[in-house]
Amino acid sequence: MNDTSPPTFLKTSALNLVALPAFEDNYIWMLHDTQQALVVDPGDAEVVLEALQRLSLRLETILVTHHHIDHTGGVDVLRDTTGAMVFGPLTETMPEPIRRLEGGDKVQAIGLTFNVIDVPGHTSGHIAFYVDSVEGVPLLFCGDTLFSGGCGRLFEGTPAQMHHSLTKLAALPSHTRVCCTHEYTLSNLKFARAVEPNNAELIQYQQECISKREAGVPTLPSTIARELQINPFLRSDQADVVQAAQQLDPTATDAVAVFTAIRQWKNNF
Ligand code: ZN
Ligand code: FE
Repeated sequence: MNDTSPPTFLKTSALNLVALPAFEDNYIWMLHDTQQALVVDPGDAEVVLEALQRLSLRLETILVTHHHIDHTGGVDVLRDTTGAMVFGPLTETMPEPIRRLEGGDKVQAIGLTFNVIDVPGHTSGHIAFYVDSVEGVPLLFCGDTLFSGGCGRLFEGTPAQMHHSLTKLAALPSHTRVCCTHEYTLSNLKFARAVEPNNAELIQYQQECISKREAGVPTLPSTIARELQINPFLRSDQADVVQAAQQLDPTATDAVAVFTAIRQWKNNF
């Protein structure tokens, strides 16, 4: 590998996790063992082909979380040029042919088992992929469901669906690395500060993320533990978040109503 190699965000004796920047603010996550590679949500084929060539890798598998074009746009070219197997959600329009998956299914790829979790909300058939251990480290590829400091917009699902989906992800082991598809962290944290101005962990995390972005480094992956401390969309049970929600909807008392009010506020922030 040379100086132009992308930084590695998890390196074990067997596997490397790399974030390939695409478009304005997407990351195409790549896992590779120095020979075979897997990518998640390849919106842009060129970015992946360039990395495969530079790192001398063969693309074995493509995982897709949902139907939006910035997640699927490179699938046809990559399948045609590499012969990679493609897996995606059961109920969404996808670049065919593709193997269909739903919550509870498992996929074997590059020596790992990926567990499929249904996470409707951003889109109605959105799925996430969870690996419970890469040499002790759990990995989550959650597409546009959970972001660092935020969550996806509700294009097709209801707030109750999204809240339920996020609750499932929040229950994963705290040291799970959270690989989101977008670098939205700084703008999410501005909003999070408005919701919880007195959250000390949030203030500190924002400083860390500002420094990372100034250095041109991704703020991702995050961890579930971190998100539980700073992400208002996982904190509907916290007094300050409830109070903020009640500024918008005085009747918001249960977790779903609090989540709904905060999501609505973010839409207009
Ligand atoms: Zn999307
Ligand atoms: Fe997206």
